[in-house]
Amino acid sequence: MRSVTGRENVSEMCTDLLQDESNLSGAWCEAAAWPENTNEAVEYISDSSRNGIPLTVSGGLTGIAGGALPEGGAVISSSALKDIRRLDNGNISAGAGVTIEELNSFVSKNSEGFFYPPDPTEETASVGGTIATDASGADSFLYGATRKWVAGLQIVLPGGKLLSIKRGLHMFKNRICTHPVLGTLQLPSLRREQPPKNAAGYHMRGDMDLIDLFIGSEGTLGFITEAELKLAPEPQYVIDLAVFPEKAESFWELFASLLHAGEPLRIRALEMMDDRCLDFLRSHPGELPLPPVNAAFCLLLRAEADSDEHLENILVTLDEMLIASNSSPETAWGGFEPSERKRIKDFRHALPEAVNHCITESRREYPSIHKFGSDGAVEPSRLEEYYVRSRSILEEKGLPFVIFGHAGDGHIHANALPENSSQMLLADCAMREIAAAAVEMGGTVSAEHGLGKMKLDYLKLMYSENEIRGMETIRRAIDPDCLMGPGLES
Ligand SMILES: Cc1cc2nc3c(=O)[nH]c(=O)nc-3n(C[C@H](O)[C@H](O)[C@H](O)COP(=O)(O)OP(=O)(O)OC[C@H]3O[C@@H](n4cnc5c(N)ncnc54)[C@H](O)[C@@H]3O)c2cc1C
Repeated sequence: MRSVTGRENVSEMCTDLLQDESNLSGAWCEAAAWPENTNEAVEYISDSSRNGIPLTVSGGLTGIAGGALPEGGAVISSSALKDIRRLDNGNISAGAGVTIEELNSFVSKNSEGFFYPPDPTEETASVGGTIATDASGADSFLYGATRKWVAGLQIVLPGGKLLSIKRGLHMFKNRICTHPVLGTLQLPSLRREQPPKNAAGYHMRGDMDLIDLFIGSEGTLGFITEAELKLAPEPQYVIDLAVFPEKAESFWELFASLLHAGEPLRIRALEMMDDRCLDFLRSHPGELPLPPVNAAFCLLLRAEADSDEHLENILVTLDEMLIASNSSPETAWGGFEPSERKRIKDFRHALPEAVNHCITESRREYPSIHKFGSDGAVEPSRLEEYYVRSRSILEEKGLPFVIFGHAGDGHIHANALPENSSQMLLADCAMREIAAAAVEMGGTVSAEHGLGKMKLDYLKLMYSENEIRGMETIRRAIDPDCLMGPGLES
């Protein structure tokens, strides 16, 4: 197993471990290790625990909330856990370090007619990281978040014990679960149920499966080394469209009708970019075509069809819906051919990439600038209200910003783009106000990125002191000295 010790050695030889897509600065650690199998991970974690060394778990480092960045102690990285195979039941067993890109490529070669639905946009994210954050993405509108596709996990617990869990075998009953390795765990009772799309705090439902406690636990309850993942049957056609309404009213009208369209449209993804995003893309042109000049919003839609007739129906219905909401079908892009679909996918990916690039540029002059993106979600029928509130918070503070996201899930990312230190302070306040607005509307402060180190404080916006204490109790039942995920204590 590769390992490095000494703070200076890590800083010199493993700079990649000290940065992720949050652009948070100040990460450091005294040691790092890259186990190549579960046994090596057990050995490293047992040793670290015996010596009281805090451990930060690192995956693909595409996280936006800074959860994988160490604050001292050691880092254990999943990047050498690359085993992948098809199981007899058709599921896939993947090492935690397999990237989403590698997983998709394996599935397309070895599981004809099937695909892995979670698509968190950034394909260099790892299987372990996407499980630890319960990552979502565009297709979650139809297929749900990562959680739904995890059938089993191998986890090295803090202390070094190995836990293998399969979905369906150990359940919480009335918030209590007793397990031979973990003992008795009790979930706190909550003032209100967690929203359906939520990545803030541990997953806590009265009668849930034990495996769901670990999914979304952001590296605080153990090191995931391997996962058994379910696949979904591939539909015959997938259609990707980018529609460019010229007026905000047309966008919201079209959005509302698509949100409730149901079958036979079978919408997989319903995404949005606002006028600020389109201007931003125009002012940061890459190799992609620019959005039409008069476009005020962009609605990105992905739908699927099981037959030629179904496809024809969808295309006709979409045409009618576009016309009814005054959104011209002529300016729309996309279709079902791979090249048309790739164009839309690249266009969608270009925006968060350009945002991250812009932050990196600002950091040259102001190194403490980092990503300021909201991740809140509300009931989808209230998205327009949440969007308007988020936007006015950013406008009042005079900040440059863009707002985009997973509209169909009531989930948007309002990204402030501070250009100097004073704007950075304003951006920080804006993010907190936007998160608080989501909670006030019955939603969550984080729907997919998790809280990491950057937003841990937002827990208090969403949960009571008792609820937070209850989460700490669960954590201490598994990790009495809180050695895993240092800096992620509430
Ligand atoms: C351009 C761009 C677009 C993005 N779009 C989306 C999106 O649409 N949806 C979405 O959900 N996310 C999105 N993300 C965020 C990111 O890709 C996800 O959060 C992803 O799940 C992180 O995976 P990772 O392997 O990079 O994890 P890391 O960043 O390495 O770690 C994230 C967290 O998981 C923990 N962790 C990592 N591996 C393990 C493990 N093996 N065991 C236990 N804990 C572990 C870490 O400690 C940390 O707390 C985007 C990121 C970028 C850069």
